[in-house]
Amino acid sequence: MTTDSKRFETLVLHGGTYRADPVSGSVAVPIHQTTSYQFQDTGHASRLFALEELGNIYTRVQNPTWDALEQRVAALEGGAAALAVASGQTASAFSVLNLAQAGDNIVSSTDLYGGTWTLFAQTLKQFGIETRFVDPSDPENFRRATDSKTRAYYAEILPNPKLNVFPIREVADIGRSLGVPLIADNTATPLIARPLEHGAAVVVYSATKYIGGHGNSIGGLIVDGGNFPWESHADRFPLLTQPDDAYHGAVWTEAAKPLGPIAYSLRARVKLLRDIGASLSPFNAFLLLQGLETLPLRLRQHNENAIAVANFLKDRDDVSHVIFPGLQSGENRRRADAYLAGGYGALIGFELKGGVEAGRRFIDALKLFYHVANIGDARSLAIHPASTTHQQLSGEDQLATGVTPGYVRLSIGIEHPEDIIADLAQALDAAGAADAAPARKAA
Ligand SMILES: *Cc1c(COP(=O)(O)O)cnc(C)c1O
Repeated sequence: MTTDSKRFETLVLHGGTYRADPVSGSVAVPIHQTTSYQFQDTGHASRLFALEELGNIYTRVQNPTWDALEQRVAALEGGAAALAVASGQTASAFSVLNLAQAGDNIVSSTDLYGGTWTLFAQTLKQFGIETRFVDPSDPENFRRATDSKTRAYYAEILPNPKLNVFPIREVADIGRSLGVPLIADNTATPLIARPLEHGAAVVVYSATKYIGGHGNSIGGLIVDGGNFPWESHADRFPLLTQPDDAYHGAVWTEAAKPLGPIAYSLRARVKLLRDIGASLSPFNAFLLLQGLETLPLRLRQHNENAIAVANFLKDRDDVSHVIFPGLQSGENRRRADAYLAGGYGALIGFELKGGVEAGRRFIDALKLFYHVANIGDARSLAIHPASTTHQQLSGEDQLATGVTPGYVRLSIGIEHPEDIIADLAQALDAAGAADAAPARKAA
């Protein structure tokens, strides 16, 4: 089966060409734990190396277990192809390095995952690639920051802590009018948001989060939308449209033609993955496939539970405000409703009136929630950024990123909603009770 009109619930199980293993009949996708693949003969081997035929050579570059995962994710996203990589960080880095080289720039939303922020602000800068950070509340900021060296726009669809949904169509359209593709990190909203339908050219994932869904494997994916006219803007994309010395002068937009509109993902695989080698382990690809098969079911429960939790928090006197797309108003709510077609997701932020100390006490009193720096697990997770992920930032910088002293981030799991809410209620009570009690003696 290939990409077609089937629904998500069916595509997660059947999307792509894998049906059963041709040798064993195995229905579950086998873990192809091999480094290399026997060539049929010398002609076959040289055709593979010359990319005249696509096939398995070495697991740094291709693997049949990845292939099943890649095809399913491409089918779900409505993309032309996908590339599995070792982590979400690799996916973000490759998505940019596949278009930009020293002297070039990208324009990125300021609302980013911390790891992506440092990748862009520091590591890519050391590679000679400049990132121009702009406030996404006004899409025109992207146009204003664009020049002839701009190779991509980059944004997260549902960035935390602010949880303001990115104006996908607005920015993608500006980019298309100028010849700049939008790369969208859809980690927090797989299936819920469909960036390619709104004009994005590339979608990246940390599969570590909802796609894997069980908090057991790090992995990443890059989905090639196959919908961007690289050749119409050939001067902007020399890496795709000019002869590549590393492949006997191949031009990627030409080389991909017999295979489909996959110049972007083909180059990412045979250049970046080949040369840098941030490859996914076949075992992790298998675990991510297991997670993917129940993604629509899990998301339904994540979404429902999060709405129940947001409503519970909204009515608490010790909570000054709740950040959740379904509780927003104005332009942010309009964007949430326009782009989160499959629910509001399962991330919730809230502010404790008691500030930093109440935040710490709340976290320490949780019994069901795990206190971890992660999102997208089937289990409910919580973190107090001011005392952990953001502690090294000045108070002012914390506020700029949306982290206030009493701010708590929740990633709501798929447990029974009443058990989730009971744990939150007892931890809020504990945080508040300690507030009223005389100060404890320092240990
Ligand atoms: C976790 C995360 C990443 C990084 O992914 P890893 O798999 O941890 O490398 C990137 N973007 C977002 C939005 C994330 O949540």
